[in-house]
Amino acid sequence: MSAQKASAKTDARTNAKDTLIWSFGGPLGCALMSVLVVVIPYYLYFCVAFNDGMPVPLPGADLAAFWQSIIPTWTAAGLYLGWIALQVLLQIAVPGPQVEGVAQPDGTKLTYCMNGHRCFWITLVLIVILVSMGILDLSTIYREFGALLSVGGLFALAMGIFLYPYGKAHGQAFHTSGNLIQDFFMGTGLNPRIPARSGFDLKLFFECRPGLFLWSLFNAVFAWVQYQEYGFVSTAMILVNIGQLLYVWDCMRMEAALLSTMDIRHENFGFMLAFGDTPWVPFTYCIQAYYLIHHVHDLPLWAALLAIGLAVTGQLLFRLSNKQKDTFRRDPDNALIWGKPARYLETEVGTKLLASGTWGLSRHFNYVGDELMAISWSIPCLFATPIPYFYPIYFALLLIHRERRDHLLCSEKYGEDWDRYCELVKWRIIPGVY
Ligand code: NDP
Repeated sequence: MSAQKASAKTDARTNAKDTLIWSFGGPLGCALMSVLVVVIPYYLYFCVAFNDGMPVPLPGADLAAFWQSIIPTWTAAGLYLGWIALQVLLQIAVPGPQVEGVAQPDGTKLTYCMNGHRCFWITLVLIVILVSMGILDLSTIYREFGALLSVGGLFALAMGIFLYPYGKAHGQAFHTSGNLIQDFFMGTGLNPRIPARSGFDLKLFFECRPGLFLWSLFNAVFAWVQYQEYGFVSTAMILVNIGQLLYVWDCMRMEAALLSTMDIRHENFGFMLAFGDTPWVPFTYCIQAYYLIHHVHDLPLWAALLAIGLAVTGQLLFRLSNKQKDTFRRDPDNALIWGKPARYLETEVGTKLLASGTWGLSRHFNYVGDELMAISWSIPCLFATPIPYFYPIYFALLLIHRERRDHLLCSEKYGEDWDRYCELVKWRIIPGVY
C-alpha cells in the first residue's frame, strides 16, 4: 500500500473514533434523539388507540381521553415495577449454564448465567396461573397501557440518571466524550454490574428480559381484548402473535448468541439502550397487534401466505446467520460452516473474522432475516394506513445506521485487518444491492 493510501486510512480511523464518540451528531443530536424516542411511542399509541390507526388526527379523535390515559397511575406503577421485580427475581434465582462472554477493555472476561429460556417458560406459566386464578386481570393491562408507557419512560429516565455516575465509577467505559448530554445518552459504562464486575449484569438483563417478554404479553392482551369484544381472534392477530412470540422465544433459546452482538460487545449502557430496552421495544413493537384489535378484516389468502413465507424465511436466515457466528466464535478452528471448515481472517488483535457461510455473502447478512420478519408482521394489517408499517420502516433505518456504526467500531478495533475483511466481503447487508 502506498504511504499516501496508508495515511488516508489512518486519518479515516481517527475520524471514525471521533464519529463514534460524538454519535448522533454530538450533544444536540443526542438531545433531539432523546425527545424523539420519547414522543414516537406516544404518537403510535395515540394513532392506534384514539385515531382509528390513522397517522393524522381525525376530526373525532378524542385528544382529551388520550392525555388523560397517559397520566401515570399507581396501578400502572405497581404493574410495571412488579413485572421488573419478577424478572429480576427469576434472573437471580433460576439456575442456568454459566457462559463466558464479553472481553472487557482491560482484557478480562465476564461470565453470564444463561437462564433466559427457562425464565421465558416460567413467566408464561406464571401468567397463565395468575390470569386463571383471577389475580392478574388482562383488561387492566389494556386499560392502563398509556399509563404503563409513561411509567416505563420514567423508569428508563431514572435508569439513565443512575447509570451515568455508576457507569463512570464501575463500568469500564470506552468511547466517552466528557460531555454530560452525550455521555448520558450513549452511556458511560460498557457492562455495568451490581455489585461491580461480579454481580447482576444490567445490560444483558435489560436487553432481553423485561422488554422482550412484555412485548409478547401485550400482544396476548390485545388478542384477548379482541376475543372479548368480537367473540373470536382474527387470523391476522393470530399470525402476528405467533410470529412475534416465536421471535422472542428464539432469542431466549439462543440467549448465549447475544453475547457476541454489537450492543453487548461495544455499546455503553446509557439512556439510549435503557430507553430502547424498556419502553421502546414493548410499547412500539406491539403496535401491529394493537391496531388489529378493532380491524378484524378478512385476511386474503395471498396476504396470509406472504406473511407466513416471509416470517419463515426471515426466521431461518436470521437464526442461521447468528448461529454461524456464534458457533464460529466458540471454536473457530473446529467450526463447520455449511459442512466445511470455516474460512476466516486472522487479526492482529487476536480475534478471527468469519468469511464463509452467510458471513461471506455480506458483512451483516443477519440483518436481512430480521427485516423480512419485520415486514411479515405488518402484512397481516393490510394497507389501509401506514402506522402498522412503522416497525419495518424504522427497523430498516436502524439496521442501516447500525451497520455503519458497527463498521466504524470494527474499523477502529481491527484497523487494516478490517479493511482486508471488507475487501474480501464487499457487501454491507444485501449481497449485490447494498
Ligand atoms: P452482529 O451480531 O453482526 O454483531 C456485530 C459484532 O460481531 C461486531 O461488532 C464484531 O464484534 C463481530 N463481528 C463482525 N463481523 C464478524 C465476522 N465476520 N466474524 C465474526 N465476528 C464478527 O450485529 P448486531 O449486534 O447489530 O445484531 C445481532 C442480531 O440482533 C441481528 O440479527 C440483528 O438483526 C438483531 N437486532 C435486533 C434488534 C431488534 O430490535 N429486533 C435490534 C438490534 C439488533 P467483535 O469482533 O468485537 O466480537
